[in-house]
Amino acid sequence: MSSLAICPGSFDPVTFGHLDIIERAAKVFDQVIVAVFHNVSKSPLFTVEERIALLVEATKHIENVTVDSHDGLLMDYAREKNAQAIVRGLRAVSDFEYELQITSMNRKLHEEIETFFIMTNNKYSFLSSSMVKEVAKYHANVADLVPEVVEQALREKYSDS
Ligand code: ADP
Repeated sequence: MSSLAICPGSFDPVTFGHLDIIERAAKVFDQVIVAVFHNVSKSPLFTVEERIALLVEATKHIENVTVDSHDGLLMDYAREKNAQAIVRGLRAVSDFEYELQITSMNRKLHEEIETFFIMTNNKYSFLSSSMVKEVAKYHANVADLVPEVVEQALREKYSDS
């Protein structure tokens, strides 16, 4: 049986930190689905369709990765796809508490599906989509933080600010 993992997130927009986690997950699992979720507590800069398009472009070099979206519970989606695993990235200690809460809840909802955490590469420890948006808004250079296609998309979003 081939293994399938889901990398869920908001990806608003995808950064090199996300890509690092996706690339490493793709080395361990046969198939990886990067799933864009609507996070009700965040007001997104990019629409789900835009986020998907950016992810498709940013992951096109990884053969076993596909991109999708879902509007609902992650565990319902994982069950529907027959996934064995959820993969999340961990940065600073601040991520830990939040991830622990979500993972315990997810295990209650579906205990067959295991959640795996990949520690961030040190150079991306302090990289988040919010930070990228914050600096891009002031037209600072984000070339070291996001793929070129995202850099271009950010430039367009903030072109009249
Ligand atoms: P969410 O709204 O679900 O937290 P994000 O798009 O912020 O979605 O993050 C998606 C996943 O990518 C999460 O597991 C998050 O911890 C991880 N992630 C985000 N930025 C980084 C980074 N710089 N290094 C490693 N993992 C990261």
